[in-house]
Amino acid sequence: MDKYISKPHGIVISAPYQGHINPFVSLAIKLASNGFSITFAHFEHVHHMLSKSQNSNDTNEFDFFLEARESGLDIRYTTINDGFPIEYDRALHLREYWESLFENFPARVDEFVSSIIKSNPSMNHFLVADTIFHWPASIAKKHKLVNVSLCAQPALVFSLTYHAEILREHNHFPCKDNIEEEINYIPGVQTINTKDLMPYLKESGINTIGHKLIFMAFKQVEKADFILYNTVQELELDTISALNKKGQKYYAIGPLDFSKNLPKNTTVIKSLWPESDCAHWLDSKSPGSVLYVAFGSLVHTSKQAFQEIAYGLLLSEVNFILVVRSDIVSSIDTEVLPTGFIDEIKDRGLIIPWCNQIKVLSNPAVGGFLTHCGWNSIMESIWCGTPMICYAIAHDHPTNKKLVVEDWKIGIGLCDGKSINSGIQRGEVAKNIQTFMSTLEGYKQEIKKVQAILQSAIEIDGSSERNFDQFVKDLKVKIYSN
Ligand code: UDP
Repeated sequence: MDKYISKPHGIVISAPYQGHINPFVSLAIKLASNGFSITFAHFEHVHHMLSKSQNSNDTNEFDFFLEARESGLDIRYTTINDGFPIEYDRALHLREYWESLFENFPARVDEFVSSIIKSNPSMNHFLVADTIFHWPASIAKKHKLVNVSLCAQPALVFSLTYHAEILREHNHFPCKDNIEEEINYIPGVQTINTKDLMPYLKESGINTIGHKLIFMAFKQVEKADFILYNTVQELELDTISALNKKGQKYYAIGPLDFSKNLPKNTTVIKSLWPESDCAHWLDSKSPGSVLYVAFGSLVHTSKQAFQEIAYGLLLSEVNFILVVRSDIVSSIDTEVLPTGFIDEIKDRGLIIPWCNQIKVLSNPAVGGFLTHCGWNSIMESIWCGTPMICYAIAHDHPTNKKLVVEDWKIGIGLCDGKSINSGIQRGEVAKNIQTFMSTLEGYKQEIKKVQAILQSAIEIDGSSERNFDQFVKDLKVKIYSN
């Protein structure tokens, strides 16, 4: 008989992107630390990327949760196959990839979940999956599992999607691309300009794979038993309160990556690419003098926009670290920097393919962060007290940027008014960077206030910890009454 028979068993399946893997791994560890038995599944190609990032020769044998298990956590690790060969370029063929996942992946998950249940029939299983998946409610229903959804975005983004029909009634969904109108009728959202809506709510985004993915997934999320947000209640109080009134169970439990009260040695390898060490270079720079520039793990920019930003950095005369992810433009066009750029920057700039972002942001030499406004990047920057310049590129970025620039006033926009990926010019980039770096102090004062909110949320009696404890209680009640 399984020794963990009395524990509820969570089957945790993370979306295959860095910004989702991070909170999912943290949630899995947190659940295991709170008396749950966990089986964590990465997509197979993610498993290979993670092993490669560790220069492992023995890719198949890698168990990313071994140490966590050795420290006493009841957590197993496995992989799930998405139907494509490991080496298939999923980013390059994004539409084809997701179209295939829409068709074929639910059957694979079904088989995967069935085999886990079959091998442990006496356990109380539940499912933890990403809000961007389009199958969790169907799978949970079929297998009679309690269904937990984790949203790796702010509640504001969730709320706007949730209220798409209200937007439609006001002719703001699909929203015309170039209009700028204030929206003040969404419950819990005081005001938001149409320019800050997610691109998949706009006319030009309606036929994109992102739109299809989000709306297919949303139908499933509405049927979830519990929805967890990787955000902080005090930061989005009105939005979360308004959603709570709708009767679904929402819990703000972020920022998950900084959770405390976990057993020792529960750090799990999460980085999809090898991390360059920037400490030595940073230590040679004066405090607050470096601008860190990175655009997350999955979006692409046009080559022209990327080069204008690179030249802007050069012209600004500010010290900088520029992350040039190997597929930042495209995996088939990896020569993205202008010819001679590296010679020109001399010791003023450091070009790297990937790094430990939190380590870099927390180095005293780093004064600011030029970011694409991915939600993890924003929370990490707040955590480290580093103000931001926002270059929103796609997905939820424009909406996240609104929180940073307008609501919390902890950063500025880069070249606002220019359409994303076109029209951005080096002179303006340089000017924005110089102004930002010379007025950092004001933003630092503001970000300290938001940082304090984040930090207190994860204290033992903080809101995220309390919400997590409440979630654990409610989950157990639901599981045992199912
Ligand atoms: N990141 C990193 N090293 C880098 C660039 C990014 O570790 O050089 C991490 C970053 O810390 C964050 C994640 O990648 O946790 C990106 O997530 P985010 O939500 O910001 O953006 P996404 O990749 O989803 O667009």
